[in-house]
Amino acid sequence: MDRPNLPVIGRRNAAHPLAAPGPKLRPVAPAGTVECRGCGRRFVAARFEKHLRVCPDCGRHAVVPALNRAVQLADSATLKVVRFEIGDRDPLGFDDGVPYPSRVAEARQRTKLQETFVVARAAMGTVPVVLACMDFGFLGGSLGSAAGEQFARACDLAVAEGRALVAVCTSGGARMQEGIASLAQMARCSAGVVAVARAGLPYISILTDPCFGGVTASFAAQADVILAEPHARIGFAGGRVIEQASHDRLPDGFQTSEFLLAHGMVDAVVDRGVLRETIVRLLIGFSARS
Ligand SMILES: [Zn+2]
Repeated sequence: MDRPNLPVIGRRNAAHPLAAPGPKLRPVAPAGTVECRGCGRRFVAARFEKHLRVCPDCGRHAVVPALNRAVQLADSATLKVVRFEIGDRDPLGFDDGVPYPSRVAEARQRTKLQETFVVARAAMGTVPVVLACMDFGFLGGSLGSAAGEQFARACDLAVAEGRALVAVCTSGGARMQEGIASLAQMARCSAGVVAVARAGLPYISILTDPCFGGVTASFAAQADVILAEPHARIGFAGGRVIEQASHDRLPDGFQTSEFLLAHGMVDAVVDRGVLRETIVRLLIGFSARS
């Protein structure tokens, strides 16, 4: 009997017909270009930015860093970033191989941000606003004590200056390194939202991909109007965790903007290309009512 010509174990034999095919690797995108994670098309970075980081081919909305987001939303030349004095906290002395303060320091250096939020005074359609934009690149947009303080102070600023509050939310959830102190930020941020509401000021939140955990369970879902970007993943616990706990298969499209819109959890799914004008229309509508 003929023996198949098997590859010799221990020797590289990629050309052999029975050798594992392996992944076809694309060359790394050259510097100054961005690859769409939806369709794989590559763009010059500046052109992608001009398209608000939305792929013109497949429409995928890429993650936007907080400062870029604030620039996208504000009337030109009105954006003034506000930096609060925020102390560093490490209530548990958390160390998972890298001490928590070192992780924060590394995130600060990499993102050039103070913490998860970029808070800014700005105008949108000439309506004065406080923008509070989250950055997923800063420890997964997690809600620690300092981030909670940033949001609470953004609310205080809106109340003190009679500005509308616009929050762009993206988060992986609580900041596990702070334990229960992180969960307490949900109440703190909720109190800020209540102060804005009591002052008769509008609050609009925009849920962007991904938005999970304590952020979704508090201020992201407490706005007068809740908008979401297309196909954003939004929820509390992750789908896999829910399936394991409930021993049930989740419906298709569960925890997407469109699913939440169909179930009344968000007010509208808005393409990023018309997000700014949609918010401006809402703010002008609120101003006319007050
Ligand atoms: Zn694409």
